[in-house]
Amino acid sequence: MSADSTAWERRSAVRVVPPAEPRKLAKVPFVELADGRLQGVVSSGSDIARVYVSSIAAKTHGFSCSTNNNRPCGGLSGTYPCKHLHALADEAVRQYGLDRVARYLKVEVGAGESLMSGLNGTKEPAPAAVVFSRFLRHLAYLELPGTAEPLVEMHWFPATGAVG
Ligand SMILES: [Zn+2]
Repeated sequence: MSADSTAWERRSAVRVVPPAEPRKLAKVPFVELADGRLQGVVSSGSDIARVYVSSIAAKTHGFSCSTNNNRPCGGLSGTYPCKHLHALADEAVRQYGLDRVARYLKVEVGAGESLMSGLNGTKEPAPAAVVFSRFLRHLAYLELPGTAEPLVEMHWFPATGAVG
């Protein structure tokens, strides 16, 4: 038992996570309207080390949600958006306003309706790695002002571009 934990500690000394202490993340620490999508990062309610990269495509309203390790979100299937997509949409509306988000996604939102109720998408793959990398850079700029070193966090997510 103690030998196991020692081995684990040795392994954990290899720098595979950002050097800054992870603080408690906001529910949706990163959201953007970019690449023809509403996309962002949603923290897992239960595990601080796990985040979901969620996106909603403009026009098609395709839903995508996976973890930062490219595991598909278990809550997303078919036409039913998971709670991460709901959280993402809420945060986008809070930051950008309903009109702007609806215009960007080309959603008709009736009076008194929510953004999600106007969506008609199905599950659709989207590149999570790009969004996650931007999120890490965003974090790095927030927490490590003035650093001149290469962003080691980028090595944390080696599966760039290999999103299925
Ligand atoms: Zn999800």
